[in-house]
Amino acid sequence: FLKEHNARQLWHPMAHPGEAQAHPPRIITGAEGVNITDIDGHSVVDAVGGLWCVNLGYSNDLVKEAIAKQLYDLPYYSAFAGTTNPPAIEAAHAVQEFFADDGMERVFFTSGGSDSVETCLRLSRQYHRLRGEPTRTKFISLKKGYHGTHFGGASVNGNNRFRVNYEPLLPGCFHLPAPYPYRNPFNETDPAQLAQLIAQAFEDEIAFQGANTIAALIMEPILGAGGVLVPDQSFMPMMREICDRHGILLISDEVITGFGRSGDWSGARHWGVKPDMMSTAKGITSGYFPVGAALMSGKVAEVFEGSTADGTISHGYTYSAHPVGAAAVTACLSETLRLNLHDNAAERGTQLYDGLRRLSEKHDLIGDVRGGHGLMSGLELVSDRAKKTPLDAATVKRIHDATYDAGAMVRASGHNILMSPPLTISEAEIDTILTALDAGFAKA
Ligand code: PMP
Repeated sequence: FLKEHNARQLWHPMAHPGEAQAHPPRIITGAEGVNITDIDGHSVVDAVGGLWCVNLGYSNDLVKEAIAKQLYDLPYYSAFAGTTNPPAIEAAHAVQEFFADDGMERVFFTSGGSDSVETCLRLSRQYHRLRGEPTRTKFISLKKGYHGTHFGGASVNGNNRFRVNYEPLLPGCFHLPAPYPYRNPFNETDPAQLAQLIAQAFEDEIAFQGANTIAALIMEPILGAGGVLVPDQSFMPMMREICDRHGILLISDEVITGFGRSGDWSGARHWGVKPDMMSTAKGITSGYFPVGAALMSGKVAEVFEGSTADGTISHGYTYSAHPVGAAAVTACLSETLRLNLHDNAAERGTQLYDGLRRLSEKHDLIGDVRGGHGLMSGLELVSDRAKKTPLDAATVKRIHDATYDAGAMVRASGHNILMSPPLTISEAEIDTILTALDAGFAKA
């Protein structure tokens, strides 16, 4: 029944419905530790971590028990104006403490990453209105950035694939070149020089648009879905400085990089930057329950809290501060801290990155190896290294499938292979991923 009906009634996200009917997605039936099992009983290491989110692995009993208990205590009640619930209060406290060193002071719960991005974009406009600058409505972001699929997030998205079918999007959104030394419009291969050129492009765009029209810059500290692009050390501090000088808010989209995946508790912390707002999701519950959170610095919070009725937040979701989700958050963060997951992410991330670089010496299809900051890594595949010709989709799929057959699930995205395994992964399990990829490339 499952195989027959897969993709018949079910439309799969980010997939062509007809293509999915012809080649139905793999059905995953179980998971344990860092391994997943498919409907045919084949078990592999999950080098994707669900979708960059299963930081704690699949077998954390404390999180499962917290969720089960909360289902019996209070499965749901609205947390819109007028009511809330104990887990929501506890979870907000836990999240704020988690990001206190990033200057975050207030927490607004959502149902996922796209909602968190949307919340930050909307509240950043409201922030400027409250401060008497209603002209500040535009958003700047980076090409190659991924910020979810709502209209706001798609508008600041830096990949046309996620925009083109849904135009017209939000007016007044501008994209700067990505910190992507392998390919960029300046043909600049030095990451520090490239950072300078992008900062200059930001300054030019501000001068052209007028600073008093721009609400916020939204950026991922490390661009995940865009191919794991790690900017130069100077990049985010420069962006912070430019934002400060022009009264522009800096939103750090930490949906992937937050909660330890980037080798520290937040991505921005790597570069010593304190954002004005943060969008989070994924690792906040490690995939055990769909939750996200938008976070606000003291500077932003005080404008809302000291305001008149215009400061009312006319924004929220039925499942904002869902009690079961909130119980999952508190349990997940306490486990994340207890296991000090960012340390293992940093160590195993280096092992993975070094291993991938060794693979690139062996397999010519690997054009560029990216990572080195925690457990997010990427391979950009090319059919010709000198010309950097993107590898065709059929060959990428063959590599992906052969790697799966050899013991590891990786993520094929365009002509990139992306990896973000659970942060609990062991040295031996990272070796399994590398061995499987080696076999996958050899076979394909
Ligand atoms: N922002 C970033 C940086 C993301 O990586 C993602 C999801 N991959 C999102 C936002 C959207 O999150 P969601 O899919 O949970 O809506």
